[in-house]
Amino acid sequence: MRDYTLGKTGITVPQNAFGALPIQRVTVDEAVSLLRNAYDGGMRFFDTARAYSDSEIKIGKAFEGMRDKVYISSKTQAVTKDKFFEDLDISLKNLKTDYIDIYQLHCAARCYNEEDEIYNALVEAKKQGKIRHIGITAHKIGVAEDIVRSGLYETLQFPFSYLASDRDIELVKSCAEHGMGFIAMKGLSGGLLTDSSACMAFMSLYEALPIWGIQRQSELDEWLSFFDKEVSMTEEIKAVIDKDRKELLGEFCRGCGYCMPCTVDIQINQCARMIQMIRRSPSANFLSDFWQQEMLKIDSCVECGICKTRCPYELDIPTLLKKNLEDYKEILAGKPI
Ligand code: SF4
Ligand code: SF4
Repeated sequence: MRDYTLGKTGITVPQNAFGALPIQRVTVDEAVSLLRNAYDGGMRFFDTARAYSDSEIKIGKAFEGMRDKVYISSKTQAVTKDKFFEDLDISLKNLKTDYIDIYQLHCAARCYNEEDEIYNALVEAKKQGKIRHIGITAHKIGVAEDIVRSGLYETLQFPFSYLASDRDIELVKSCAEHGMGFIAMKGLSGGLLTDSSACMAFMSLYEALPIWGIQRQSELDEWLSFFDKEVSMTEEIKAVIDKDRKELLGEFCRGCGYCMPCTVDIQINQCARMIQMIRRSPSANFLSDFWQQEMLKIDSCVECGICKTRCPYELDIPTLLKKNLEDYKEILAGKPI
């Protein structure tokens, strides 16, 4: 396991970090245990957000009294100065700390600059010592490229997995050239990728810090196991990646859920990727009565288009849903999976 330095921030940590979105779904005790086990196992970087309900509180509890031993990044969805400082103060309180290593604008719609009060709020918070570094997260490649070109941010967080396009890979290289840290979210592409060795080997080829979303001890154990073994791109792993890229490349739903809620209550973040989920997970789970009912809701889509305006990947969701329903109905009628 090699170390990675997040650009000019100077933050150097093992290339194996903890994404704390999923710990919202477990109890405080379970989360604290996971986080401490992650630290004991070698992880040093923990990424959370104001938007992840009590994730910050759980991190604050886990690392109380050892703040200087870990790096913590958090995020705010604020776009005004007042809301920014309100959020930052809550983050600091939740995390039981007087500074946050990297504070990021969450899912930025564009590259905010010196003319925007939200960017100036970040600069002011840094001067006050409440945050050490200025970061931003984005889901759209064009926005991410603008951010790198601007030179205004110290880190960029962006989806990156072995399904990355050439343009995504150029983005990561460009971050390195501009002295920006690159934090890789969705390294499993929203749960579609299941071979952790392949994910880790791919990441090891780039100047990037993957934050693996972790909810269970078994998942944590899998990521921690890489501290004890060599991570490298073997022929076997290349074959896994090639196969998955052939199957999954193109327009697919990452399951992020930003498009929801749906006007007629379709679970878009699952139903729009049923084609992949049913083939890549134990399929019986997705053939239950519950999922049959959920999938049939697709027929009630009124094509209002609201979801499309929210999808960071600009997917044509109604069409994608219909394609998934058609495939699902064929499977129910006996088509082999
Ligand atoms: S277009 Fe269809 S799927 Fe999208 S929000 Fe409207 S009803 Fe829901
Ligand atoms: S359709 Fe787009 S926004 Fe909705 S879950 Fe899929 S990738 Fe995310």
